[in-house]
Amino acid sequence: MSTTPVETRPLRASTGLVVAIDGPSGSGKSSTSRAVAARLGLRYLDTGAMFRGLTWWLLREGVDVHDASAVADRAGEPEILSGTDPLGPTVVVAGVDVSLAIRSDDVTSAVSPVSAVPAVRSRLLELQRAVIGAGGIVVEGRDIGSVVAPGAQVKVYLTADPAARAERRAAEEGGSDVAATRQSLLARDKIDSGRAVAPLVMADGATHIDTTPYTLDEVVDQVVALVKAVGERA
Ligand code: C5P
Repeated sequence: MSTTPVETRPLRASTGLVVAIDGPSGSGKSSTSRAVAARLGLRYLDTGAMFRGLTWWLLREGVDVHDASAVADRAGEPEILSGTDPLGPTVVVAGVDVSLAIRSDDVTSAVSPVSAVPAVRSRLLELQRAVIGAGGIVVEGRDIGSVVAPGAQVKVYLTADPAARAERRAAEEGGSDVAATRQSLLARDKIDSGRAVAPLVMADGATHIDTTPYTLDEVVDQVVALVKAVGERA
């Protein structure tokens, strides 16, 4: 456990502030982003949940997720609404709250090919920028610091050992098989890092934190310190 005192005051000038947190699956992005947003009184956007939400809908509609042109044809159709409370983020697709359904194995194994389709990325990019709006938000994903919000005042790139990532993700999923989870994470990393449009990369100006040796609280403290440092310079 970290001994650093917990900072609970909202930031003064939080409007305009964008904190971009990128990294591969299981690197601690979601837990870190939500905790940072809650501590600092900021909103929170999980862009992965938007890709998952669209994937959930395509699967429900019977679209072949490996057929890029079929995916592109339907990508603009469903309404996708993201709730930005870090204590209870939600995603509603075509009127259905799919906040839990998007974590299913079916969605997890289909989301990376869907996310590689340019029409999907441009649709969600527009929605993501609309939610970011005037800022005051922590945004997590794969391309936030590089493409979605390249002007973000704070950019963080989180990584962790594949073994640590698989263990964390399997525990989050209620004790899934660690070896299978590791395979699934690495398969998604390969597609996410290798795609032509907006691949997973460390953005220019990002601070790299390898979370393997740290507790969640320690990582949150490090990111909060980066945000405070920007606030003090402003
Ligand atoms: O973060 P999460 O693991 O829920 O993201 C699910 C998938 O959504 C990723 O594997 C990736 O294919 C896609 N994604 C993306 N760009 C983002 C966020 C997520 O391509 N900004």
